[in-house]
Amino acid sequence: LFSSLPPTPLDEPFSVNGAYIQDSHPQKVNLGIGVYRSEDGAPWPLRVVEDAEKELYDAKNVGRHEYLAIQGDRAFLQLAADLVFGFGKGKSSAPAVIEDPRSRVVSVQTVSGTGANRLGAELLARNIRPGCVWIPDPTWANHHTIWELAGVERKTYPYYDSVSQSFNFEGTIRTLSESARKNDVVILHACAHNPTGADPTREQWDALAKLCNAKGLIPFFDLAYQGFASGDADKDAWAIRHFFNDMHMPEFCVAQSFSKNFGLYGQRVGALHVVTRPAVHDVTQDLQATLCHLIRGEYSMAPRGGAEIVRTVLADQRLRERWFEDLTTMSQRIQRMRHTLYDELLKLKTPGDWKHIVNQIGMFTYIGLSEPQVLAIREEYHIYMLKSGRISISGLNERNVGYVAQAIDDVVRT
Ligand code: PMP
Repeated sequence: LFSSLPPTPLDEPFSVNGAYIQDSHPQKVNLGIGVYRSEDGAPWPLRVVEDAEKELYDAKNVGRHEYLAIQGDRAFLQLAADLVFGFGKGKSSAPAVIEDPRSRVVSVQTVSGTGANRLGAELLARNIRPGCVWIPDPTWANHHTIWELAGVERKTYPYYDSVSQSFNFEGTIRTLSESARKNDVVILHACAHNPTGADPTREQWDALAKLCNAKGLIPFFDLAYQGFASGDADKDAWAIRHFFNDMHMPEFCVAQSFSKNFGLYGQRVGALHVVTRPAVHDVTQDLQATLCHLIRGEYSMAPRGGAEIVRTVLADQRLRERWFEDLTTMSQRIQRMRHTLYDELLKLKTPGDWKHIVNQIGMFTYIGLSEPQVLAIREEYHIYMLKSGRISISGLNERNVGYVAQAIDDVVRT
C-alpha cells in the first residue's frame, strides 16, 4: 500500500538538530535550531512562566483538563489580540468612525504559529481561492510546505539582497507591482525575518501597505517573534498596527505564535486573527463559524495548558511586567552575542564585512557562508548551522563564541 510513496524532504532545522545530538565531539555547537538557550547553553523556562504555572497548579481547579470551546480560550484570545493590535492600551490610533476596532478581528486559538499559518492558508484556499501566494525568498521553509498542502500555487518575491545584506525593497516592490493580482496572498514576517534577520524599515512597510491596498492583495502576517526581537512587544507589532490603524487595510490575517516569546515551544500556543471590514457583523459571525468548522475537522480545539499560562501572565499587570523583564533578558543576551561575535571576527581580521551580524535583528542571522563552507565548518569544527548559512544566535555563549569566530575565520580563508 505504501510502497510507492514519493520521497518526502526532511525538515532541515530538525534534521540538523538530530545530527548535532548524535555528535559526541566535546566542542560541538548548535546554531541550527531556532530555540532560545541561556548563557550555559541550556533551555530557559521563563521565570514568569514558572510563576504562572505555580498559580495555575495550586489552584486545585477541577475543570483544568476539560475541553475548551472550539474557538479556544476566549479570555486568552482577547488578550492575544490586544497584544497584536494594541487594543485597550490607549495606544491605538484607530479612527473615531470605527467604534470598537476589536469588532473587526475574528480570533481563534491554534496549534501554535504553525497551526495558525496552516489554518489561515486553509481558510483562504477554500473560500477566497487566491491565484497564488507570494512567499519571501528566503523564508521559514514551512511556509512552502503549508501552502503546498493547502493546494495554492506558490510564487516568490526576492526578499533579501545578499550584496547589501538587507531587505530587498526595490526587488520586492517591483515583483509584486508587476506580477501580483487581486486577491493574491502575500506572506510578510511581521518582525525579525526568519532566516535573514533583515526587516523592512517603517517607510518600506508603509510602501508595502500602500501597494497591497492599491492592488487588493491579502497580507498574511507571520508573527513568531513579538517582543522577542527587540524586547518591546509594541515595537515588534508596529507593522501590523500600521496596516490596521493607519492604512485601514480592509482584510488580512495574522498568525501569532507564543513559542519564542514565552519559551512555550512544545506547548503549542498560538492564535489566528483575521481582520475584516469595519462593522460587518454577519461577516464576522460567518467567518468565526467557518474557522470553527475547519478547526473541528482538523483538531477539534487547540490544547489548553500553554494558553492558560499565557492568559494568566497577560491578564495580570504584575506578571506582565515580569514577562517584559524576561523578554529583555533574552533579547539583550542575543544582542550581546551578536556584538561579541562581530568583535571576535574583527579581532581576527576575518576577510569580509560582518556588520550585518549587528545590524540584523531577532534570533537569526544570515552569516554569509556558502553551502560548502557550512559543510566544512560542520565537518571540521562540529558547528551546526543551516545550509543557507542561517545561524541561531542564541546558540552562542561566552564559552563558545571565540571558537565559532575562529572556525568562521578558518573556512573563509580556505
Ligand atoms: N513562523 C516563523 C517565521 C517561525 O520562525 C516559526 C518558528 N520557527 C513559526 C512560524 C512557528 O513556530 P511555532 O509553530 O512553534 O509557533
